[in-house]
Amino acid sequence: MKDFAREFYNSKAWRDVSTAYMTSHFYLCERCGNPATICHHKTYLNASNISDPNISLNPDRLECLCQDCHNKEHTLRRTITRFDDDGNIVGIKKSGAEKQYETDRDAFDALLKKMTSQNRSDLIS
Ligand SMILES: [Zn+2]
Ligand SMILES: [Zn+2]
Repeated sequence: MKDFAREFYNSKAWRDVSTAYMTSHFYLCERCGNPATICHHKTYLNASNISDPNISLNPDRLECLCQDCHNKEHTLRRTITRFDDDGNIVGIKKSGAEKQYETDRDAFDALLKKMTSQNRSDLIS
């Protein structure tokens, strides 16, 4: 989380708005229906729009997402283009968070593969 966002996410206003929004969606992901944990801003917040309640505290601009769909949303967006706080494209480099996400995902895939092959050999023997 960037510094400019920390104060916002800790504010009572945000906690009230996000809790009300998540509750109105029964804490279910709007994309896949799984239990949701994240209140995502459809308009990505930056240093200049975070203090505008029409953007940062507007339920029309929020989305109730599970961790998976939220990761996908941010990974996808970061891979295509990255913007600086003034909205200028700064490149398509992968961020540290995305690399971490890929590492976690690869580790999980490997684990899953291992478990699947173990189950198969159990069935055979
Ligand atoms: Zn989801
Ligand atoms: Zn988000």
